[in-house]
Amino acid sequence: MHPRNPYNEPPDFADLARRYPPLRPHVFINHTGSSTINFKSLPAQRRLTEALFHLDYGLSLTLPDDRLCPPVPNRLNYVLWLQDIVKSTCGSDTIRGLDIGTGASAIYPLLACRIEPTWNFVTTDIDERSVQFAKQNISRNSMDSRIFVEHVPADGPILQPLHTSSTGFDFTMCNPPFYSSAEDVSRSTEFKELGPNAVCSGAEVEMITPGGETSFVARIFSESLQLRTKCRWYTSMLGKMSSIPDIVSLFREHSVDNYAITEFVQGQTRRWAIGWSFQDARLPDTFARISNPTLKNIMPSRNTLHHAFPGARSVDILASALRSVIALINGVTVASSATPATSEHSFTMLVHAQSNTWSRAARRGKLPEIVCASQESPVLRCSIESRERLSSYTSRDIPCQLVFIWVEGKDRLIFESFASHVSRQITSTLPEFGDVI
Ligand code: SAH
Repeated sequence: MHPRNPYNEPPDFADLARRYPPLRPHVFINHTGSSTINFKSLPAQRRLTEALFHLDYGLSLTLPDDRLCPPVPNRLNYVLWLQDIVKSTCGSDTIRGLDIGTGASAIYPLLACRIEPTWNFVTTDIDERSVQFAKQNISRNSMDSRIFVEHVPADGPILQPLHTSSTGFDFTMCNPPFYSSAEDVSRSTEFKELGPNAVCSGAEVEMITPGGETSFVARIFSESLQLRTKCRWYTSMLGKMSSIPDIVSLFREHSVDNYAITEFVQGQTRRWAIGWSFQDARLPDTFARISNPTLKNIMPSRNTLHHAFPGARSVDILASALRSVIALINGVTVASSATPATSEHSFTMLVHAQSNTWSRAARRGKLPEIVCASQESPVLRCSIESRERLSSYTSRDIPCQLVFIWVEGKDRLIFESFASHVSRQITSTLPEFGDVI
């Protein structure tokens, strides 16, 4: 569950029913004495989604009986992850997203536009019935000026609105049909867990696509190879963990190293999302990587590096040593520095390097001088935080560390060599700090 997701705790169903009467017939007291609903009942699921939309977001929703009923907490996880990505990599005031396969609910754009007043969406679907309902749900909530729906053909490009638009997009999102056939659906563990008599709310068009989700996302990736920086971040949800390695092999085949993998856990349901970008803005590891042993070898490389200084007695001394070292590196400037309001024991600075002047080859004059087109395009933007180590470490012996976060740049080696160079320079000017760890 995303840390900002308010549905970390199960809701008080009795209270919800009091405040949203259509839910009332579906709420009962279970054997532990708590109020709940029958999650296998489709009408109960629909009324719950409508109740949360109404009570928590002031949105009114009509869900048709023959289409998927989206659970709000799970869908919100994806929106919050996108919010993280947008906040850390997009500078513009107005944000444009594309929701592929918006469904009858148009749940993603409605939730996202309610949370983020500057976001706008183009959405698509191949299913005429879903398009009709999506349009009604958008109009009913007076979002027509911010969310456009396009009915697209199944055999056309998936990113059609991007191909035809004259302006760029900040992100694409998608909850694709996961399965390749009816047999694939019945083989899935989730379907088995529901039991033989379970009713699934998804229509065929929502659940099944030729080749399943891997082929669907592979099509998006192949279109993105032509569109490249026309969109900052291409993303998709995935229903099967086994699809991730296939998508990452495509990234590797096409040398796309700027990508992210995350996981959404909601009760028994586990989903994944993957994102990739052709731009140089990099994501912090907290949004781009998860610790999952099965996926360990295909995670994107770290954009956050920690260097500990065993002998540094205080974060102020370390921060001042850092400032002196940075001042001596040619072509590196401090763009901003701040003490985060949340912590008294850390200092953050954002540095820009116009070219790589610190590597051994550069210092011996063996590297060609990298000429920058303008002051706005440094080869590296990096945030450096001086902070005290977490108390779970032996804080008395190893009190301080530097955290380097890669913010922007094409070349990972430049980021890594910069972090090593700065750390080595600090220990060589102040040997009492000890060897960098
Ligand atoms: N976004 C909604 C619906 C997801 S179901 C939700 O999260 O609840 C998948 C949706 O993708 C369906 O509505 C289906 O009609 C649509 N779809 C399938 N193929 C598509 C394509 N090629 N382009 C756009 N939408 C497609």
